[in-house]
Amino acid sequence: MRQRAPEPARPAVTPSYDTSFETLPGFEELRLIRATGEALGIGNPFFRAHEGRAGAVSRIEGREVINFASYDYLGLNGHPDVRRGAQAAMELYGTSVSASRLVAGERPIHRELEARLASLHGADDAVVFVSGHAANVTTIGSLVGADDVVFHDALIHNSVIVGAELAGAARRSFPHNDLDALEDMLIHERGSHRRALIVVEGLYSMDGDAPDLSRLVVLKERFGAWLMVDEAHSIGVLGAHGHGIAEQAGLDPARIDIWMGTLSKSLASCGGYIAGPQPLIDFLKVTAPGFVYSVGLPPAAAGAALAALDVMGEDTGRVAALQRNARHFLATAQAAGLSTGTAEGHAIAPVMVGDSLKAVLLSERMLARGVNVLPIIHPAVPHKSARLRFFITADHDQEQLDDTVRILVEELDESTRLLAALGFAEG
Ligand code: PMP
Repeated sequence: MRQRAPEPARPAVTPSYDTSFETLPGFEELRLIRATGEALGIGNPFFRAHEGRAGAVSRIEGREVINFASYDYLGLNGHPDVRRGAQAAMELYGTSVSASRLVAGERPIHRELEARLASLHGADDAVVFVSGHAANVTTIGSLVGADDVVFHDALIHNSVIVGAELAGAARRSFPHNDLDALEDMLIHERGSHRRALIVVEGLYSMDGDAPDLSRLVVLKERFGAWLMVDEAHSIGVLGAHGHGIAEQAGLDPARIDIWMGTLSKSLASCGGYIAGPQPLIDFLKVTAPGFVYSVGLPPAAAGAALAALDVMGEDTGRVAALQRNARHFLATAQAAGLSTGTAEGHAIAPVMVGDSLKAVLLSERMLARGVNVLPIIHPAVPHKSARLRFFITADHDQEQLDDTVRILVEELDESTRLLAALGFAEG
């Protein structure tokens, strides 16, 4: 056996890198929020465990509560057909496809699902990814680069921002739904980049309002930009058949360059997708790292989403029930004097609280009264715009919605009184 050469002497070094996780940005803010919550005896509203299927009602800490924290807008999670769709796909293909589709992970069910998603959006084709977040990051990361610019709504989902930043593209955020400001930016930036991508959501998950799609199309056509619409919260929610914002706006979906959606909300599954013109889909399938170098969608997830699309197509009563419930909740909340910001009565309704601590306290008090609704606090929303966010589903009934508004009004007053008694100035 050959002897290894002796290790050369290396100069002594004093470690100079910061290896503490607790000095990472945001950690101190997290610690302060926890400490204040503990001092006030308020539990952590996040990571609450649901002990079964979480729909319009759910079981938390052994108790059945009315649930407003599920994106299962159409109540299809656990629908017998959807469960059967997942099971049949799993029986046929197993629990995983174990590889990227490009090499050995392709199954007929993937293309079946993509054809259905493409037709939902009136697009040439579609491609599915293992999550909605991954779909945005990898698609935007592949489409734009250092020579390009991304314009996005100030309330756009994190995955869009991460995608634009990883791509090294210039990023311009316009105030929420302010298309005059977008137009000014487009004028100002004209000619300074190779490609421009405008990204909006079909329905905003923080405020529950939709953009003016017709005007966006006019703008993108006038300036020669791509328009990408993230329909995570608008599929199953907007339009008479739940086909999203183009159906609601009465626009030809082919005028939008890039449709993005997720399988995890109305479609009761897991995964994300892009639908659009054939060259776009062909390009993503050979270049987007989150597709090329990542596993194909699990068969059960594809089977569930396909079955959910079937149920949604056959039973538009669910979409109508959701829309009726959403309008009813908003009207009842507003009539009770609650502040619902810019919500338009489409499945997502924030109730503005202002102070973050108060929103957390209120969420805890609502749970004690049998209503699960989560607080949204800084940094997810700007300072002083903390809120409780209600996700309405087709399966809620009007009595549940009315009871919730009544309890909320009582608990809002009580939380204000409690915090004042404890000497906490609302910030
Ligand atoms: N886009 C938007 C607008 C979202 O709200 C979400 C998730 N809440 C996503 C993308 C990511 O989707 P997924 O949870 O399927 O990864």
